[in-house]
Amino acid sequence: MDSNERQRYSSFLARRRAELLDRIAEAASRSERHANEVTLLAVSKTVGVEEMLLAYEQGYVAFGENRPQDLQRKAEALSGVEGLRLDMIGNLQRNKINKVLGSAELIHSVSSVGLGKAIASRAEVRGLTARCLLEVNVSGELTKSGMAPEEVARTFDYLMELPNLSIEGLMTMAPAGNVDVARSCFSKLRELICALRASTGLELPVLSCGMSDDFEVAVEEGSTLVRLGRIVFDPSYADAGR
Ligand SMILES: *Cc1c(COP(=O)(O)O)cnc(C)c1O
Repeated sequence: MDSNERQRYSSFLARRRAELLDRIAEAASRSERHANEVTLLAVSKTVGVEEMLLAYEQGYVAFGENRPQDLQRKAEALSGVEGLRLDMIGNLQRNKINKVLGSAELIHSVSSVGLGKAIASRAEVRGLTARCLLEVNVSGELTKSGMAPEEVARTFDYLMELPNLSIEGLMTMAPAGNVDVARSCFSKLRELICALRASTGLELPVLSCGMSDDFEVAVEEGSTLVRLGRIVFDPSYADAGR
C-alpha cells in the first residue's frame, strides 16, 4: 500500500471498529450484559502483517488465524508489538501442534479428545501449559469439525485432568445463513458451558462464538469472544445483519 492507501484503509478500519463496538455494546445491553465482557477478536487470515499493524494502531489487540504456518509466521513478524495476541482458531492437525504452541495465546479448536491429548503431551515436552477451548459441533452438520455436545459432557473430566492443558471454555461455529438457527446453536453452547461449570466447579470463562454474519445474536446469547473477519477487514463486505 502507498501512503494514501494506508490512510484510507486506516480510516475505514477506525470507522468500522467504532461501529462494531457500538453494535456489540447494544447487543450486550439487550441481554443485560456489559460490553466489556466481550472480546473482539479480529480474524486476520485474509490479510497480511501490514494490515494487522494498521488495525493494531486503531485499537485491535487480539487477532485470530486459522492456519498454523500463517500463525507462526505472523507471530514472528509481530513479536515486538506490545500487547498483541494471536489465537489459533482453525483446524489443527497433530503434526502442526508445535507451530502454534508458544505462539498462540489460546487454541480455540480442540476438536477431539485425541487432539487434546496430543497437545497436552507436546506442551509437556516444551514445558508449557496450552490454554485451549473445546470446539463443539452443536449443529451436528457433517461438514463441521468439533465434538458433539454429549461427547464433551462425557469426556470433560478426563480432558480437564490432563497436565499441561488448561481448558478455558468452549467454541462453536453456527451454520451460515440463518440467524434463528445460529441463535439456537449459541444458546445450546451456553447451556452446555453452564452445565460444565456446575459439574466441575471450574470458571470456564470463555465462550467463543459469533462471526461477521451472526455476532449480535451470539452476544445476546452469552458469547464472551466474537471472531470477526470480513466485517473488520473487508471494505466491500455487505453486512447481512443490517
Ligand atoms: C474465518 C473464520 C472466522 C471469521 O469469519 P467471518 O465470517 O469473516 O467473520 C471466524 N472463525 C473461524 C474459525 C474462521 O475460520
